[in-house]
Amino acid sequence: MPLYDYRCHACDKVFEARHRFDDPSPACPNCGSVDVQRVILAVPLVTKGMSASLGANATKDQLREKWAEETPKLREKLVSKLGEDTVNRNAPTLNATYD
Ligand SMILES: [Zn+2]
Repeated sequence: MPLYDYRCHACDKVFEARHRFDDPSPACPNCGSVDVQRVILAVPLVTKGMSASLGANATKDQLREKWAEETPKLREKLVSKLGEDTVNRNAPTLNATYD
């Protein structure tokens, strides 16, 4: 089974849990709350990859431009894989512009 990262809404702890994609969310090991949200790691990785491909001295404008170029593609890929609802819930930053 794949390993997912979750963030607990009640205590803000991030934890890892192994379970199937369509299973109900696991409970938080810290406080027992089931009000948890899966963290999709692709998003920060993409941002990091963008910085790496542009170099350490990339300006904010360059990053913003790259973000505007890459994000719709990534979003499209995730939507086709996970569905629109899941992406909106788990990766709201993909709807935003780079800041
Ligand atoms: Zn918790």
